[in-house]
Amino acid sequence: MNEENSIIWKNFIELLRNNVSQVTINSWFKDLKIYEIQDTNIDNRPMKNVVLITPSSFIKDSLLKRYLDTIADVMEKILGMQCNIIIKTTDEIKEDEIELPKINIDTNANQSQSSQQISTNLEINTYANFDDNLNERYTFENFVIGESNRLAHTAALAVSEQPGKLYNPFFIHGKSGLGKTHLMHAIGNQIKKNLHKRVLYVTSEQFITDFTTINMKKDADYIQKFKDKYRNIDVLMIDDIQFLGGAEKTQQEFFHTFNNLYDMNKQIIISSDRSPDDLKLLEERLRTRFSWGLTVNIYPPELELKKRIIANKMAGHDAARLVDDEVIEYIAANSENDVRHIEGAVTRLFAYTAIMVPSKINLEFANEALKDYLKNSVYLDSNIAKIQKAVADYYKLTIEDLKSKKRSANINYPRQIAIYLCRTYTDESFPKIGLEFGNRDHSTIIHACDKIKEDLKNNEQLKIIIKEIKNNIG
Ligand code: ADP
Ligand code: MG
Repeated sequence: MNEENSIIWKNFIELLRNNVSQVTINSWFKDLKIYEIQDTNIDNRPMKNVVLITPSSFIKDSLLKRYLDTIADVMEKILGMQCNIIIKTTDEIKEDEIELPKINIDTNANQSQSSQQISTNLEINTYANFDDNLNERYTFENFVIGESNRLAHTAALAVSEQPGKLYNPFFIHGKSGLGKTHLMHAIGNQIKKNLHKRVLYVTSEQFITDFTTINMKKDADYIQKFKDKYRNIDVLMIDDIQFLGGAEKTQQEFFHTFNNLYDMNKQIIISSDRSPDDLKLLEERLRTRFSWGLTVNIYPPELELKKRIIANKMAGHDAARLVDDEVIEYIAANSENDVRHIEGAVTRLFAYTAIMVPSKINLEFANEALKDYLKNSVYLDSNIAKIQKAVADYYKLTIEDLKSKKRSANINYPRQIAIYLCRTYTDESFPKIGLEFGNRDHSTIIHACDKIKEDLKNNEQLKIIIKEIKNNIG
């Protein structure tokens, strides 16, 4: 790979970590490389042809089958343009080269054109209207406080009142779904509203993408744009900094950005799924800097807080007046210690309410609506749940993945198989199955069943897979 492609590839692997596990990366992506990236035009739309090369035809086939969408999505983020992914084996490339000796017409012109076509966040953000990426839905007002998040909340409020003065940097850590992102946006919204300062919220993924862009362009103008975006601000928030681990050059840049802002008393806010000490892949000097300010931990919610969060999420909803108090107890006691999961239970309960139109939401009704969702529910062993578990296990996914909105091929196809199995081997209705798969529309469910039926006609491999999954249904 040339230098440019190596940088792209390194960042690709970095971003890929957000979508797939390290095990998947080691098994399928380790020996993969970028062979070439070319500009192309499909249906009059400029696109990139990205040719990847692997020594193994088995790996090629598996990638095509399971990861094509994911690869295309991640590449698109990096190259800023829709990508057409082509995977070839080393042998195929050799054959190509014999048949068609490569003619390098005007490579330079091609390169400069390609760098012009890459549109990035940088461009959009520095010119025209500055985008702070803040989500107005997340505020202090709708953040429910309990013992487990009190310290984080108090400190966040203080930071929002005196940015750059009290706790700098402000580092929030805690497991996924406990409100880190919510608190960051709340701080940002508050500062914007009361102090009219310039705030920028980015995920570490966005930071990597922006930095990769300047690296590719190597253009003074772009370096300036990057600096404008990240240094000409009063508050910088970087969410999920753990994803910066491994992206060494980006870390170095972040280090400079950090120092620059810090020296000017600008507020820096960072979140992570682990404490600074446990961010092993991050440079020591960055970890040291994180501990200069205040580090707070958000803990999983205790029962009381869970109840208040549930009541809070229900409030304002039309159906809230139908809810019995014991339903709140029931959800609090049986949901995971993860606010995202708790919210999911409420959403689902109301989705079921909209379908069934009950006169009261009592324990029995909640049980029925949430039987496949809550962990200790009396009915956890429903057939849909069993099928979901068997499919998830087979594909090394989680049941949450199957229910999620994620549409990458490695999740979408197993999801379609699971839906097909539910329809074929249980007597549940399309709407009910839709509900169990992340409240999907019933036309989606019908489509999934048709798709698998069609595939089964001439895909022997799929027949074997389905047979194996059926054997594993508990
Ligand atoms: P994290 O970034 O820690 O993974 P998020 O901030 O994305 O978690 O929170 C997940 C969901 O739970 C969001 O919809 C958020 O609004 C909600 N949430 C988390 N904590 C609270 C809380 N204390 N009060 C109200 N909503 C919360
Ligand atoms: Mg988050």
